[in-house]
Amino acid sequence: MEIQDLNQEIRNKYLNRMEPKTAQELAASWSGEDLLYSGKGNAIFIILPTPGCAHALSNSGGCTMCSYIADSPLKTVSAAEMVELFKISLNKFDIKPQTVVKIFVSGSFLNEDEIPGEARDEIIKLLDKEKNVEEVVVESRPEYVTEDILKACCTLIPDKIFEVSIGLESSNDYIKEYKINKGFSNADFEKAIDVIKKLKKDYNITSKSYIFVKPILTSEKEAIEDAVASAKYAQRVGVDRISFCPATIHKGTLMEFLWRRGSYQPPWIWSILEIVKIVRSSVKIPIIMDTSGFGSRRGPYNCKKCNKKLKNMIINSNLNQSIPEEFECECKAQWKADVEYSNLSRSTMNLTRNI
Ligand code: SF4
Ligand SMILES: [Zn+2]
Repeated sequence: MEIQDLNQEIRNKYLNRMEPKTAQELAASWSGEDLLYSGKGNAIFIILPTPGCAHALSNSGGCTMCSYIADSPLKTVSAAEMVELFKISLNKFDIKPQTVVKIFVSGSFLNEDEIPGEARDEIIKLLDKEKNVEEVVVESRPEYVTEDILKACCTLIPDKIFEVSIGLESSNDYIKEYKINKGFSNADFEKAIDVIKKLKKDYNITSKSYIFVKPILTSEKEAIEDAVASAKYAQRVGVDRISFCPATIHKGTLMEFLWRRGSYQPPWIWSILEIVKIVRSSVKIPIIMDTSGFGSRRGPYNCKKCNKKLKNMIINSNLNQSIPEEFECECKAQWKADVEYSNLSRSTMNLTRNI
């Protein structure tokens, strides 16, 4: 069975089993420290419920590691309801100076089938009025990054940075197609980045790319090499900053299917640290390493003695963009052996097994 077929079958089963929550139940927000273009500041994260990622709902079954579709009510959410939920989330915070607002829509903010233009414009206008907000970050697949839509957004928020984050995941087209099922190529990604670059002379617009660390069917060594190569590629094509997303096992995904059968493991935190060290000295644009899920059963893991310490070292390195200091733990030798000798035998699988 082809990877894509299996991915689609698993997604369909999950969608059939899933009991969608209401838009109100799914709306969520939180805040924390973050690194802005202007330096250390604050971030407000808002999850906005939408009908769901068009790619995940398509016949392709979506990306092999992602279950953000579980954050969707799987039905139309009216523009008025979206704006209302956004307002409730935003009003929970006393917005401090130097704040970035990151809007997560579990899909594409720029796709009008997911976020009606009316809601999109209203949300941007609300943020434009907040004097302490310096940056607004939205996410989108490259096919929705068009000059017209971006101009519509940027003209509504002329004095703040408007950033479009695109999930590049890997700069290797083979990995994107056969291990992630991403549904677009580097050429599509570059086209979207070019649109953003062209608009920079008239608008305050920037781009970010997400890079996924350790897709399925990838050894520990390949995962490190691919993450580093992808960051260098992103810088080369003109991306303004990078956010790495180390794998955590989402429910109802092909990644979870393989993990349950012993054919996949999230990366070691040592590998993540290695990536941070290499890219901080070889890539000049700001780089953030996401640490959510670190030390949990479904996330990047070292050993109980050092998980927390390394997580904190990486968080510090995000805020200062510094290279983490050297650190030793007895589990490091095992990681080294894994990097040196691991091959795909641990990650191969029998696709004909029943799901
Ligand atoms: S990673 Fe992004 S594009 Fe892929 S299925 Fe998830 S939300 Fe959709
Ligand atoms: Zn350890």
